[in-house]
Order: sequence, then structure tokens, then C-alpha cells
Amino acid sequence: MSHVEEPTVERKDEICSNLDEISKAVASAGKVRDARLVAVSKYKPASDILAAYGSGQRHFGENYVQELTEKAAILPDDIKWHFIGRLQSNKCKALASISNLWAVETIDSESKAHKMNEAWGNAGHARPLNVFVQVNTSEEENKGGVERHEVVQVVRAVRESCQSLHLLGLMTIGSVEGSHRRPNPDFLALVGLRDQIKAELGVDLELSMGMSDDFDHALELGSTNVRVGSSIFGSRIQKSVPQ
Ligand SMILES: *Cc1c(COP(=O)(O)O)cnc(C)c1O
Repeated sequence: MSHVEEPTVERKDEICSNLDEISKAVASAGKVRDARLVAVSKYKPASDILAAYGSGQRHFGENYVQELTEKAAILPDDIKWHFIGRLQSNKCKALASISNLWAVETIDSESKAHKMNEAWGNAGHARPLNVFVQVNTSEEENKGGVERHEVVQVVRAVRESCQSLHLLGLMTIGSVEGSHRRPNPDFLALVGLRDQIKAELGVDLELSMGMSDDFDHALELGSTNVRVGSSIFGSRIQKSVPQ
């Protein structure tokens, strides 16, 4: 691990107190005990990640392969990285070379599941790579994710023919409109799919849903993995609106 600039004392205090607050909320809001908090650090400097790491946070989420690769190279090896950005087939190999990549949350087609499986297998890691199948619950044209009616098929394909992957669950981002409604229809759709898969395939899956503005609501509906960025690290520049 090469040298990462230490965060300033003020910045460290700020991040740690935000993290403390969110961690407590995650611990108390959930239907599921011990839901996982993924600190989303896209566009934030490595020193910010180190500040959160210093207070015990280990799961971090990044959206861009290049940025993740650079950060992973200079930050501690026991960080558990989540890739949460749009997955491109030609980036699977670069992702697979990150040995402490913990999960890819954005498997959005059967063919990309196979690509990621092949890349992870070829990289020769001792453990399988955790993955979530991303679902386009809001059925928006530009949103990433598998269509609802294809989810069972993709889940089957990952489980049956992707030996280097371990299917952890389903993930959704959801629409902006949906995020203002209670209950959030995207979260309900993901819960419904999880239940359907349990009934049809007998498989228990996690749910990755909920961000800064609605992670508590997502936890109430059964989320096991929340992805929180701006409430921990502060706001980002505009182009970071997730797809
Ligand atoms: C950026 C991002 C987040 C975090 O969003 P915040 O509103 O900053 O908490 C969560 N999930 C995905 C997929 C993202 O791209």
C-alpha cells in the first residue's frame, strides 16, 4: 500500500460523526439484523475513505472501474470493495484483477454474468466473487438492470453455470419519483421478486436497496445492504446521479 494523504482532523471528525449516525440508524431501523452498510465513495478522495476506514468502516462502493482500480491500489487490502456502477463487458477483466473486490452489485444480463465469471475464474482467486443481479424495477429506458420478467432466468444462469460467482442477492436503484413514495414501489417490486425466487427456486437472496435519502425506509422493507454516499461524505458534483 503506497502513501495516502491523511485526512485533516476536521474532515476526519465530520466523516466519522456522519458515519456513526448512519451506522446507528442502520443498526436500529432494520427488519433484518446486521444489515450491511456500504459507504459509497465515488468522486471522493482516498483520504476520505481512510477517515471512514479509521472508524471501522470496511465496505465501500465505487461506480467507475478506473477510479476503483486506482483507489484499491493505494488503500488497505482489507477493504471490501463493491462495484455499483454500470457494468461494461470490456471492463470485467480489470475489475477481476482487484483482489479485494468483494461484490459486483450490477450484473445486468446473462452474458455479463458469464463475462464476469470467466474473468474472475481466469484471475485465479481462491474465493468466488459475490454478485447481485441488478433489476430495472422502475422499467425506465435508460436505467441499468435486468427486466423483471428475466430475473428468474438470470438468477438460474448465475447459480447453475457461473462457478466463480456467488449469487448474494438482488439490487435496485429505482426511479426518482418512486423514491418519494411510501412505500417505495421499486423496493416493493424487489421484495416481490425475492419472494418469488424463494418460492420457485428455494433460494434465499439478499436485497441491496436504499441510498442516503431512503435507506431507513428500505431497511424497514427488508433491505440487507444499503448504499449510502452523500450522507456520509457530503454532496457530489452533478454528474454522479446514478443510473
Ligand atoms: C451514488 C450511488 C449511491 C449513493 O447515493 P447517495 O444518494 O449519495 O447516498 C448508491 N447507489 C448507487 C448505485 C449509486 O450510484
